[in-house]
Amino acid sequence: MKKNIILLGPPGAGKGTQGQLLSKKLNIPFISSGDALREEINQKSAIGEKVDSFIKKGALVPDYVIEEFIAAVLNKYDLSRGFILDGFPRTIHQADFLNNYLKDINAKVDAVIYISLPEEEIVKRISGRRVCKQCGAVYNIYFNPPKHDMKCDRCGGELVQRPDDKKEVVEHRIKVYKQETKPLIDYYNNHHLLYEVQGQGILQDVTERVEKVLNDRT
Ligand code: AMP
Repeated sequence: MKKNIILLGPPGAGKGTQGQLLSKKLNIPFISSGDALREEINQKSAIGEKVDSFIKKGALVPDYVIEEFIAAVLNKYDLSRGFILDGFPRTIHQADFLNNYLKDINAKVDAVIYISLPEEEIVKRISGRRVCKQCGAVYNIYFNPPKHDMKCDRCGGELVQRPDDKKEVVEHRIKVYKQETKPLIDYYNNHHLLYEVQGQGILQDVTERVEKVLNDRT
């Protein structure tokens, strides 16, 4: 089974949700650049202060900043049994950077799962997204609601909407995705690493599609 995995796709496609599930199942780290940055902002660290305005606007953090940051994050993990990356890379420059980082630790990407979603779905999904303030678990009030009103099933934490999930910011994030991140589809396709999975439908169906792709011996 492929275990060095990148999740690619538009905002709201379900990368975080699928990544967290897969991480538990395969017992390999799930590393989300967005979660790691938000953690820095919550802690009011120097890097958090540096990236806050970019995230608020729905813009990308500059490559040189995120690359240095993500290298420090990755260094904290044991990646030898595999990993799931969500939100990094987001530009071709970052993808090249990741290749070099992995080469240095004798690893490489096995599969890039591109979770695709039509644009009208993206906006709908994001408007329903709620995140646990405490543990980061992701819910959707329409598609994957918590069992108890606005409380996390996992830890009981409060569920909130991400500030950058508001409509005006989301539109900008989608534009940035199309300009900067979509070219990675061709990039990884050319490297024969890309596997497209339809992100529509219920969570469990998408999980099954993802697992099928990872299990296929292609
Ligand atoms: P996400 O949670 O992946 O949607 O990321 C939230 C925000 O964090 C993005 O809109 C960017 O501002 C920033 N961010 C996360 N990952 C990256 C990255 N790889 N490159 C640049 N900015 C990023």
